[in-house]
Amino acid sequence: MLDFLADQILLRRGLYDQEGRPRLATGAIVFGALLRALSTILLGFALWHYAGVEYSIPVSLALLWGYVVYPAYRQLVVYSETTAKIEEELLCNTCRHYNSSGQFCLLYDQHVGPEHIPCEGMDWEPS
Ligand code: SF4
Repeated sequence: MLDFLADQILLRRGLYDQEGRPRLATGAIVFGALLRALSTILLGFALWHYAGVEYSIPVSLALLWGYVVYPAYRQLVVYSETTAKIEEELLCNTCRHYNSSGQFCLLYDQHVGPEHIPCEGMDWEPS
């Protein structure tokens, strides 16, 4: 958990894992953006206290864009593009037990992927 929080705060990992899949899911991207927004706001207040409002507002706005919004936007773009490409090839995409928002099999309660189809096609039902 601490590793995940540090990854989000420091933006220290790339967008893809070793297999070329997106490293983050939607919830993690939103959580990371909120965490970075909170730290930016706290830093903005500290800057306001020590340097004044004339520095605090422009620095906070620049950080909100460059450290919070843009990284989250890039993560979402990579995640959406990669999942759309994976779903085109995935058997589960046409199954009634598939939840596309989380790439999740509702029947087996597991994430699915090109290398991992929990039922191996045995429980596939048309949607
Ligand atoms: S039941 Fe099988 S085919 Fe359907 S979503 Fe789950 S793993 Fe995929």
